[in-house]
Amino acid sequence: MFVVDEINLPLLGNTGLECPLSEEERAIQESAQRLAKEVLQPIAEKLDKMSNEEAVAPDSPMWEAMDKVKASGLMDLEMMATLDNEQKRRIIPIIFEEMATGDAGLTLINMVQGFPEFTARAVGDEELIERFSGKRGCWLATLPDRGCDLVDFDATEVAPGKKQSRPNLHAKIEGDEVVINGQSSSWVSGAPVAECALCYISCDYGEGLWQEDGSHNLIAVLVPFDVEGVSKGKPLDKIGQRSLPQGEIFFDNVRLPIKYAVAQGQTAQNSFFGALTFANMEMAVTFTGVARAAYENALAYVHERVQGGVPIIEHQAVKLQLFGLWQKVEACRAMARRVFDYNYSENGPHLLASMTSKTFVTKNCFDVTSEALQLFGGNGLTREYPMEKLLRDARASLIEDGENNILSLKAATMLSEEYKHRTGL
Ligand SMILES: Cc1cc2nc3c(=O)[nH]c(=O)nc-3n(C[C@H](O)[C@H](O)[C@H](O)COP(=O)(O)OP(=O)(O)OC[C@H]3O[C@@H](n4cnc5c(N)ncnc54)[C@H](O)[C@@H]3O)c2cc1C
Repeated sequence: MFVVDEINLPLLGNTGLECPLSEEERAIQESAQRLAKEVLQPIAEKLDKMSNEEAVAPDSPMWEAMDKVKASGLMDLEMMATLDNEQKRRIIPIIFEEMATGDAGLTLINMVQGFPEFTARAVGDEELIERFSGKRGCWLATLPDRGCDLVDFDATEVAPGKKQSRPNLHAKIEGDEVVINGQSSSWVSGAPVAECALCYISCDYGEGLWQEDGSHNLIAVLVPFDVEGVSKGKPLDKIGQRSLPQGEIFFDNVRLPIKYAVAQGQTAQNSFFGALTFANMEMAVTFTGVARAAYENALAYVHERVQGGVPIIEHQAVKLQLFGLWQKVEACRAMARRVFDYNYSENGPHLLASMTSKTFVTKNCFDVTSEALQLFGGNGLTREYPMEKLLRDARASLIEDGENNILSLKAATMLSEEYKHRTGL
């Protein structure tokens, strides 16, 4: 039983049912909220209405957003490296959720930009660290003919007797060099403004591209874009997350010293597993922020809009809808943070955990943005209000960083494998 002396209104924080934060956490949350409201949201609104080319041009407001995120230090890799696991599991969700209430695309571009530098630091090679530090990066993995096939890294979802598609991009090792030819998909986030990439590429180590199970041998290569043979396609035109530009990268006989191939063979598979585990986990906290933004906008609107003689919140049906949104946002946050807890515990990290929160949160975020838009009536559909952008941003997340159905199939396969292993079946 609880002993309650007085019945008051609930104490809610930025993140809803928020337990007290430490002074440091509170300061980080406030700083991320300011950045979201004063910088990310207004700039993303402008970018959303610009053409793809204008959005990445030298005079685009995107650069101001990038500079201000950098100046805030909130996404600083060196700062992140100083956090222990306990701090990471508490602080990173606060930063991502808060920033994403301003804009998902600008949050994600700042995350993905750090992938090559993070990898160079993890490898620990001084030349690589120098080459990739402070460089805007991207994460290149999918190809025109390898979307879900790439995500299905261990071929659990390949039809019996079949194998995955031939790659449009491949690497081979020649002496002390790695040689890359072909092209990425047009979906590489941040590519139009990137200076380098962390690439996961199909590789023939001398026994062909395919493994016995039908998946590909991979190699992880850090590629600076100032080397001969690298070129870019046009920025992709798409709905949703328009502040996160995508584009193709072409490789024409690109030759790099072998040390740039930072993971080979099984180590490259492991590295991809680690990258996807991290990215899926971050997607969940990011789209918790998008769902929250939709809820907060709806909460304000239902108190302003008058129909039937009263603000629409006074109608019982609207109250029920609003409470449904609140519950879903809380459920998204709980799931996203539980996975952070697990991944930064001694039992983690594991892709199963991250796929669980990524698929759950993005699906519920899409539902929340759609249901919140409904509360705006016709206004929700217009570009004068924020709802249609939030809906488009959420829609893209169902395919981004692994399409939700293939992620769910892989997660279910992992659950079954774990059960068989545990029970000796
Ligand atoms: C906003 C956004 C950002 C992205 N950023 C990046 C990035 O930074 N880097 C990068 O490399 N890529 C990126 N991607 C690409 C993304 O990872 C792929 O779009 C995704 O993996 C799906 O691949 P696809 O689009 O080729 O779909 P397909 O693979 O063609 O899938 C089409 C449909 O077929 C179904 N399907 C496919 N295979 C199976 C199967 N075995 N069993 C059952 N169903 C199946 C899928 O469920 C899906 O519904 C991004 C995508 C988006 C939308």
